[in-house]
Amino acid sequence: MRLILLGPPGAGKGTQAQRIVEKHGIPQLSTGDMLRAAVNAGTEVGKRAKAVMDAGKLVSDEIVIAIVSERIDQPDCANGFILDGFPRTLVQADATEAMLKAKGLDLSVVVEFRVDDAELVRRVAGRYSCAQCGSVYHDTDKVPANEGVCDKCGSTHFKRRPDDTPETMTARLQVYYKETSPLIGYYHAKGKLKSVDGMAEIDQVTAEVEAILSKL
Ligand code: ADP
Ligand code: ADP
Ligand code: ZN
Repeated sequence: MRLILLGPPGAGKGTQAQRIVEKHGIPQLSTGDMLRAAVNAGTEVGKRAKAVMDAGKLVSDEIVIAIVSERIDQPDCANGFILDGFPRTLVQADATEAMLKAKGLDLSVVVEFRVDDAELVRRVAGRYSCAQCGSVYHDTDKVPANEGVCDKCGSTHFKRRPDDTPETMTARLQVYYKETSPLIGYYHAKGKLKSVDGMAEIDQVTAEVEAILSKL
């Protein structure tokens, strides 16, 4: 199964990707997570990406395409993968198609998450994650069962993203509508697009996504 999760910042892609990983045993390839790891590690790519990410703009196509191309060659991607946050531009979408074709692979489906802007802003403002395992939480909508303790790994350290501020979120939404939303039409035309109501509760969204995956 090779999936693309498409949707604006805060739509729930990462949350649902984690559940698909657990249920289907295929890895989540989040370009955002990979770029943040590069920033933290202080690599050349990280140095080039940091200011762009903090401003809510897009890292160059060239960089992210290279990162993904290398990643999908790893052995754990042999049975499929979930692309979360990639592709994000038409150039990246064309590159994805070429990449898969060159490897003799096909794309199973693109799942689009539909969520209103006001809800996206609310979600991103309350987002935090486990500093150890990356599990994603929300101040009111998704709190750990034991307050202050990660459900998955037991860590008591959490962090917030520097770009999850209301100001940066405005820029990120503009970038989404301008650069990324054309991909909805792009994949619709290829017969690959399925949309889910991302406004629903997390478990309800998971059920909708599973209904799509079960028909593949
Ligand atoms: P979100 O939660 O907004 O979906 P991500 O974690 O996917 O955020 O991305 C965070 C930032 O990383 C983006 O604002 C952008 O700067 C950069 N980034 C992630 N994926 C891509 C991509 N495919 N192309 C360009 N930039 C990207
Ligand atoms: P994305 O990867 O698309 O940027 P996330 O999965 O990180 O989005 O979700 C953004 C925030 O919203 C997180 O704090 C998460 O816990 C919360 N969230 C995710 N899905 C839902 C939902 N269906 N309803 C309410 N909150 C949600
Ligand atoms: Zn954890």
